[in-house]
Amino acid sequence: MPGSTPEAYDVAVLGAGPAGLAGAVTAAELGLSVALLDASDRPGGQFYRHPAPATGATRPEALHHDWAAYADLRDRLAASDVTQLFGHHVWTVTRETAGERWAVHALTGEEDGEDGTHTDVLRDGHGLVPGQRPVTVRARAILLATGSYERHLPFPGWTLPGVVGAGGAQAVLKSGLALPGSRVVVAGSGPLLLAVATSLAAAGAEVPEVVEASGYLGYARRPGALAANPHKLAEAALHGTALLRHRVCLRTRSAVTEAHGTDRVEAVTVSRLDRDWRPVPGTARRVTCDALAVGHGLVPHIDLATALGCATRRAADGTHALALSPLQETSLPGMWAAGETSGIGGAQSARAEGELAAVAIAARLTGERPSPLPRLRALRRRRDRMRAFAETMTAAHAPGPGWTGWLSDDTDVCRCEEVTAGRVREAVADYGARDARTVKLLTRAGMGWCQGRMCGTAVASLTAPATTIPTPPDRRPLATPIPLTTLADLPIPAAEPTGRTDHTDPGGSDDLDDLDGPAGPDGPDGPGDPNPNPHPR
Ligand SMILES: Cc1cc2nc3c(=O)[nH]c(=O)nc-3n(C[C@H](O)[C@H](O)[C@H](O)COP(=O)(O)OP(=O)(O)OC[C@H]3O[C@@H](n4cnc5c(N)ncnc54)[C@H](O)[C@@H]3O)c2cc1C
Repeated sequence: MPGSTPEAYDVAVLGAGPAGLAGAVTAAELGLSVALLDASDRPGGQFYRHPAPATGATRPEALHHDWAAYADLRDRLAASDVTQLFGHHVWTVTRETAGERWAVHALTGEEDGEDGTHTDVLRDGHGLVPGQRPVTVRARAILLATGSYERHLPFPGWTLPGVVGAGGAQAVLKSGLALPGSRVVVAGSGPLLLAVATSLAAAGAEVPEVVEASGYLGYARRPGALAANPHKLAEAALHGTALLRHRVCLRTRSAVTEAHGTDRVEAVTVSRLDRDWRPVPGTARRVTCDALAVGHGLVPHIDLATALGCATRRAADGTHALALSPLQETSLPGMWAAGETSGIGGAQSARAEGELAAVAIAARLTGERPSPLPRLRALRRRRDRMRAFAETMTAAHAPGPGWTGWLSDDTDVCRCEEVTAGRVREAVADYGARDARTVKLLTRAGMGWCQGRMCGTAVASLTAPATTIPTPPDRRPLATPIPLTTLADLPIPAAEPTGRTDHTDPGGSDDLDDLDGPAGPDGPDGPGDPNPNPHPR
């Protein structure tokens, strides 16, 4: 296959965010040969997103907190002999030689022709765009650190220009130093909203309101998790102070239930919500703005693993994360995961998990107990402490079932295929659809460019009243569109990877007997297995 690298690394790390960076440098420092792949041009992931060179920004740290942690990882990466493969978009992972080695398949190079011509019309004899080539990286172990993407719940007007994702607004601000508007309402749910609002306000936008659909009392239900993570309280206080300084009003138990405008958003309706996120009649207010940054939490980005049949677990907010052993191994022996792929938890947690996974991988590949052992124990404790907080946070901001009441029948749910809520409701009520897949077949919802990443939650929620079975995670065979010839060149895998079935629950024992144990067979979301997660954490 053109572009293949013949050598096999000890570990291929997929994703160079906080989790992947921590995993890659730790593994290299422990003596492993490491390839680090990321679709972006530079390391850092979503949290440490850099200004594009064209912006001429001289102080990239100005829009970040905890930049010192990134600088440390960056310097260790520079000092290491990690093979850095940026601009490499991984589209699938396969097993080779009877399951002993992994092959990571990526595309690299320009996506558009030199003159900007779209890729569809400018291809060479292999179906590739000039400058674009397939690359295969082989490795004995995989560390999956592909992060997350934003969850969007639709509402009337959400497709108007000027309505942007909250994380997307943050990403554009960090990478392009651009604001989505001059008066920006920030809305949705989850702690990312506070970070986005403070960044936008600090960059000069007027932020009249942060509209949070949940309350913060949910955190009080797990005081232990709060007390064990005082840095999170400090972070919240920092955001609170910044919001006060910029005179930003925080409205909890409220939502933007409609965006108004003709050519672009001009105002939004903010409604009070009941505990189930149903709008309280008579509470609607109109707030003028020229942009709305809206997002309802994050969804683990786990396509590459679920395509292989990796076991998943269902988080408190209904998203699917990978089910992992106490040492971060997935149900597929030889594949580990860290960061948001194992559940939404923030950058610090991602770093701890990346480091822990790397230590576990080194122990497995060398057959030696990790040294020093106390480091591993300390990492595990740190990971568990932060994971407990993350679970509390996820539960506190889980969407209530009443949000579908925001949708009028003519609201687009699937914006790629322009499928309205009315058509989805019709598929359920009139044609007997009982799951999102059937709705997709009847209406084309989820068949467009984003392949359901945008509308998946909405379609599942609109279908849910008709079924009690939780929706399994999507299994997408390809993580990115690729030319057919590249697909045709893919060697047939030597063995179909499957999770071990002889695994006994390691139960978090501290004698580290579980160094050899991947996560057990399918959790609640695993193919055809409705059993509870064998590795609750
Ligand atoms: C849009 C967005 C904005 C965010 N902004 C903030 C913020 O401002 N503050 C905050 O506290 N948290 C933010 N978060 C949450 C933040 O992502 C996490 O807290 C933290 O970055 C998680 O680290 P990670 O290493 O798990 O994942 P990430 O930092 O997301 O890193 C994952 C990396 O994997 C790469 N990747 C994914 N799929 C592939 C593939 N198929 N092939 C190759 N590379 C791939 C990505 O390019 C990315 O670099 C944001 C999340 C999103 C989705």
